[in-house]
Amino acid sequence: MLNLKNHPVILEEIFKRSQEGIIVTDEKVNIIACNDTFCRITGYSREELLGNNPSMLSSGKHDKDFYATMWQTIKENGWWQGEVWNRNKLGEFYAELLTVNRLQLTPDQPPFYIGMMSDITKMKEHHATLEKLAHYDSLTALPNRNLLEDRFERAIAKCDRMQEMLAVCFLDLDDFKPVNDTYGHFVGDLLLIELTQRIKNTIREQDTASRYGGDEFVLLLGELHSRQDCEMVLNKLLHVLSEPYEIEGHSINIGASIGYTVYPFDRGSLESLIDHADQTLYRVKNSGKNGISMYGDTTLANQSSRFSFNQPEVLSAISAGEMRLHFQPKLNIANGELIGFEALVRWQHPVKGLLMPLEFLPTINESDVEISLGLWVIREALTHMQRWHEHGLKLTVSVNLSAYQLARGSFIETLSKICQDFPNTDLSYFQIEILESHALDELSTIKNVIRACKEQLNITTALDDFGTGYSSLSHIRTLPIQSVKIDQSFVRNMLNDPNDFKIVESVISLATSFDIDVIAEGVESLKHGQILLCMGCKLVQGYAISKPIPADNVLAWSCDFIAPALLLEEYRKISCLRVSQLRLFAHFLDVELEHARRRILPSDPIRRTLRPDHMFRENSHCRFWLKKAFHMHFLEHTFLHYVDQEYTRLSHLISNCLTLLKCGDETNAVKDIQIAEAQYRKLLSVIDKKLDRLNQDASMNLVH
Ligand code: C2E
Ligand code: MG
Ligand code: MG
Repeated sequence: MLNLKNHPVILEEIFKRSQEGIIVTDEKVNIIACNDTFCRITGYSREELLGNNPSMLSSGKHDKDFYATMWQTIKENGWWQGEVWNRNKLGEFYAELLTVNRLQLTPDQPPFYIGMMSDITKMKEHHATLEKLAHYDSLTALPNRNLLEDRFERAIAKCDRMQEMLAVCFLDLDDFKPVNDTYGHFVGDLLLIELTQRIKNTIREQDTASRYGGDEFVLLLGELHSRQDCEMVLNKLLHVLSEPYEIEGHSINIGASIGYTVYPFDRGSLESLIDHADQTLYRVKNSGKNGISMYGDTTLANQSSRFSFNQPEVLSAISAGEMRLHFQPKLNIANGELIGFEALVRWQHPVKGLLMPLEFLPTINESDVEISLGLWVIREALTHMQRWHEHGLKLTVSVNLSAYQLARGSFIETLSKICQDFPNTDLSYFQIEILESHALDELSTIKNVIRACKEQLNITTALDDFGTGYSSLSHIRTLPIQSVKIDQSFVRNMLNDPNDFKIVESVISLATSFDIDVIAEGVESLKHGQILLCMGCKLVQGYAISKPIPADNVLAWSCDFIAPALLLEEYRKISCLRVSQLRLFAHFLDVELEHARRRILPSDPIRRTLRPDHMFRENSHCRFWLKKAFHMHFLEHTFLHYVDQEYTRLSHLISNCLTLLKCGDETNAVKDIQIAEAQYRKLLSVIDKKLDRLNQDASMNLVH
């Protein structure tokens, strides 16, 4: 191998010919050397630059804190990388991607600083032009009606394909006019900008927010599976929007009201759906503002609903034998063991076909019909479980019951009576799932019921949809539950949104500290499973294993079932905590590159539902992991530092590709993703080597 130390001429040529501008400064940050590219970028001659501080190029676009953070990072890590706006000799602004390294040759000598920069002004300009495209609202930069129409078409196509729902929501601010009247339009505009930011931070990446008019916004919330899914987002949104706004020295409070309608129950053009959402909004406004309501909802509209049924209809369906149970498997992905099934109700409607719970459960919420349905479900599930046990399939079966049903005085007596009809069934295989909802307010009653179930009948309880309720910590601390089920919305979305990932991570750690089983629902891909294993969660449920299966097919399905080898293999590879953490990082890298690839390949139909560009840099899973790893000292500092540096390179490459794509230059974006892939492979091979070493260490420790 060539030793560059012995060939200073080569080093000098690299310095001279580099297409990156390079400068070297002394310890006082005065320039002592620079190459031609740097002179070309800045417009100054070498003589004009030497002896001066690079701050002579300062554009004034960055504040003191920016530079203070930069120098602090250099002090701590030895290097810094970021985008900087400077000004050339002609006074023109230019943007550069700058890397500064501190070079300490010997401990007793003062350091040198080496700055390397590439001019990214063109890319930035393209980017800015794009923002101004006619598709965006000029004040808030949100999509306008044109783009909304386009997003709507894509969203309903996806809904049909994935059998999901889409909520079209009309959001209107309560009393926005007085803000403009009192503080002026400038403040009103700033408030709208701040509010837009809050909306964007609250909804998910796959959702769209659009400014419809002055203080009106239309939201498209996709990938919904239940009304709760939707209301959870909307309630959160109302809460976030009602926090005070600090604008130009004024503290302003403002509320919002939302009306929404749900596709595919409400079918039609975007215009007609917006119209329905708007009508519903009007009713919310009339009934006291600051609330949400669904189109056709009987609580507000006294009209017959187009997509939900009334209570007597549901009741007669129960007696007519039209209800069915489907069963979704729960799997231990560490050892491949099938642990049980969750019973999920469906209505085999004689005319409308098979109806999902969302289509009829909201109507019977907290009513006698809900109680009747719950009892039917218990009896039916026990009947199936007994039959399977007789066939030698000893699996748990769980049923969903509302806290409302559990809190009714006679629940335990009624349940005991039903159980008496199954004298030969081992009830320790039966489990109740309670929804984490407001109804859990009656904590002490629920607590007694859960305890009685366990003590008198040997029936265990799981807390369903964990994380969506109000006081999860006190629930987990107070209720004698056996397991928690992490809500599917967080799990499903955890590869897209680091915040959802953080929620899943905290629920796992919370459950582990309270010695409670934790099941992740909504595991839609094997990647979800691999990542969950690295996070210490072994029990899963989701489409990656199986969709819910009709009761009659469960036996045959279970006999044929083979656990995914990839997951068993993943678990086998995790020899210690450090390995699981590093594997987690490798999976994140994989996901990130995959997202970028899919975004760039024009043929991918869901490229628009992937994570937004900024997540590739400031807020990525990998960044979050690195921060935590540095903080917790999972691995040696030098190794983390190297990974950090190489990852920063990779993320810059990816975001450059995305910028090119945004500028319409698909050809170069596709070329550039190949460079990113090479960088990814380089980083991954270093990680693989480290994993090998960690595994060796772990096995050595085992031997000793
Ligand atoms: P849940 O108890 O949280 O049930 C899980 C739901 O998530 C089921 O929807 C299931 O099909 C769906 N799911 C499971 N894995 C995945 C996945 O990987 N991806 C996606 N996108 N979805 C997944 P389902 O059957 O529509 O049930 C919805 C909700 O209806 C249930 O949520 C539960 O709250 C309620 N429900 C269902 N059956 C009953 C019942 O018999 N009684 C009561 N009270 N509620 C029920
Ligand atoms: Mg459930
Ligand atoms: Mg659930």
